[in-house]
Amino acid sequence: MEIASIKGLKGVGPKREILLKRLGIKNVPDLLLYYPRRYEDRTRLKNLWQLQPDEYETVIVRVLKVEEVRPRLNLRIIKAAVADHTGTAVAVWFNQHYLKNQLHSGMDLVITGKVKVNFGKKEINVAEHEIITGDPKLYSGRIVPFYPGTEGLSQKFWREIAEEALQNFSGLLPEIFTPQIRAEQDLLPLREALRNIHFPQDLTVLEKARYRLIFEEFFLQQTALYLLRQKYVHQRTGIAHKKDYPRLSEFLRGLNFNLTGAQERAIAEIGADMAKNEPMNRLLQGDVGSGKTVVAAWALLKTVGNGYLGILMAPTEILAQQHYAGIAAWFEPLGLKTYLLTGSQAASARKETLEKIASGDAHVVIGTHALIQEGVSFQNAGLVIIDEQHRFGVKQRELLEKKAGNPDMLVMTATPIPRTLALTVYGDLDVSVLNESPPGRKKIETYCIKDKSREKIYKFLRVRLQEGAQVYVVCPLVEESEALDLANAEKTAEILAKTLTPYKVGLVHGQMSAKEKDAAMQDFYQGKIKALVSTTVIEVGVNVPQATVMVVEDADRFGLAQLHQLRGRVGRSDLQSYCILVTKSNDAAALQRLKLMTETHDGFVLAEEDMKLRGPGQFFGVKQHGLPEFRLADLSRDEDILLKARKLAAETVTADPSLKKEENVPLRQKTEEILQSVLLN
Ligand code: ADP
Ligand code: MG
Repeated sequence: MEIASIKGLKGVGPKREILLKRLGIKNVPDLLLYYPRRYEDRTRLKNLWQLQPDEYETVIVRVLKVEEVRPRLNLRIIKAAVADHTGTAVAVWFNQHYLKNQLHSGMDLVITGKVKVNFGKKEINVAEHEIITGDPKLYSGRIVPFYPGTEGLSQKFWREIAEEALQNFSGLLPEIFTPQIRAEQDLLPLREALRNIHFPQDLTVLEKARYRLIFEEFFLQQTALYLLRQKYVHQRTGIAHKKDYPRLSEFLRGLNFNLTGAQERAIAEIGADMAKNEPMNRLLQGDVGSGKTVVAAWALLKTVGNGYLGILMAPTEILAQQHYAGIAAWFEPLGLKTYLLTGSQAASARKETLEKIASGDAHVVIGTHALIQEGVSFQNAGLVIIDEQHRFGVKQRELLEKKAGNPDMLVMTATPIPRTLALTVYGDLDVSVLNESPPGRKKIETYCIKDKSREKIYKFLRVRLQEGAQVYVVCPLVEESEALDLANAEKTAEILAKTLTPYKVGLVHGQMSAKEKDAAMQDFYQGKIKALVSTTVIEVGVNVPQATVMVVEDADRFGLAQLHQLRGRVGRSDLQSYCILVTKSNDAAALQRLKLMTETHDGFVLAEEDMKLRGPGQFFGVKQHGLPEFRLADLSRDEDILLKARKLAAETVTADPSLKKEENVPLRQKTEEILQSVLLN
């Protein structure tokens, strides 16, 4: 089908076409889905005679005369005498002298502002105005829309093209819901919803329009996720891991702890999935330190026990090495051969690993992205575990599965994310949650400290260092940026090196090569460096148990979820750990956020709060996942709509798995588009 081009709309010439394209509007359907940012109810405007002092009002007036006055050198006021059929008033603009050339007598205006009475004369302190040209209906007599992205494009223009698009083209967008579904779910027809989201008949219908469009956004996305799931799970024959690992009890005895209830639960869920002959597609979500590694080890043993190769992929070299060190130590006594495969390995070590994999000698392989590179293949893989899922998108998963066939798949993440976000980002996965930390963990004592008390912090650090602790100091930027007054990692490292002599201070930052970073991390890990200054590059998964102090400079510049991740770098042993949030800010909201950090250690609570404050965009993995962003839906506000839409999506896909039915054709087209873009991204 030829998609209607925006060039066909009245008033859209080459110049405006470029402006619209810049906003992502390439055709008429894009335009119809470009919603107003806000509305003003101008159904019943007052007239000048009705205005009362101190009210904030909108009126339509005609300009009689415009003048500029300059009561002081740095104050320029535009005053316009205005009138309607009930009287006259003075409209006032402060410091917008350019209006002198834009406002003329005889012109009609919509003005909004606060009313004052000066010597018996009504004055309107204008906060906002629009010059009326053409059809007055575009400005008043109804609920009037205001569109975002107005640079070079007037509200009048937006309203005109929206109106034209609605009148002539709204049939271009397919209705995906049958009348029956619309009746059941109380949804407006698409055309009506679109008309009312642009030009609401009244506020009640506007709400219904929003509901319908949000429902559709969620529904399309959830249907796409169910289809993905179907592709990965139901339509494939996987490996039925029927047996248990024969020496499992020996493995468990070898651990110096008992599993937590949450670990037992996750293991049971994973075990049940692995036993099925559909591929497992499960997410293991657990806060830092909740003990995901041992759960992963259990699953690896299960696949090995059934005669398959187990694979664990980590996002960085150092994490792969840590996993390798820990897991190989667990598995060696059991007579299992674990190998490492990373990009920085010497060619000979890499060759050996590849040979062992090829010959079937390896039981478990642990590595980085190197695992999904050219020339690596796993004929016999039974299970693939991906640690820190947020570094991998759907596409990488697809690549890995291509190499490994249809193995069971377990992704692990230490980033607690709100439930609604999990449903949209990971909606195609089953989820196990480790919501219980191993016993005996001490709470990380968290303090928020003003920058001016820096001496106290140094003193505290010296005491901890004397006790044998190691210290992280995290700074938000590497380069001096005077404008933002951010702590500078390099300078901080220099100052600390002086202040903390003789303890050795190291530095890692984002502009170092992966090799240099790893080297610095290794030195810290081995205790050669006692205090490690870094930018946020250390935030993922690193485990240095003797590091018990985390100092975050300019902590107010970080989001809550990120601070929680950083805090998770300490508290990884039975030693008491500390987190010190340093701030120069006096902003009440910022201090309130930091206070929340000192009060709660629950990553899920902090994540919810963070999403409310800053939206879902800042969570790891949201962008990488490749799903289109929502236009209207808000994950912290619209949970109930999401759940309803998700339920309907499940029912729809269950009843018609390939969306072949006549009534599902538009839905199939739309979801295929979404999946295409996910896989191409
Ligand atoms: P994460 O979930 O962050 O990957 P890890 O698996 O690295 O956590 O576990 C953190 C630490 O807790 C490790 O030292 C691990 O050996 C230990 N641990 C894991 N499970 C338990 C448990 N049930 N009881 C006590 N310690 C545990
Ligand atoms: Mg981990």
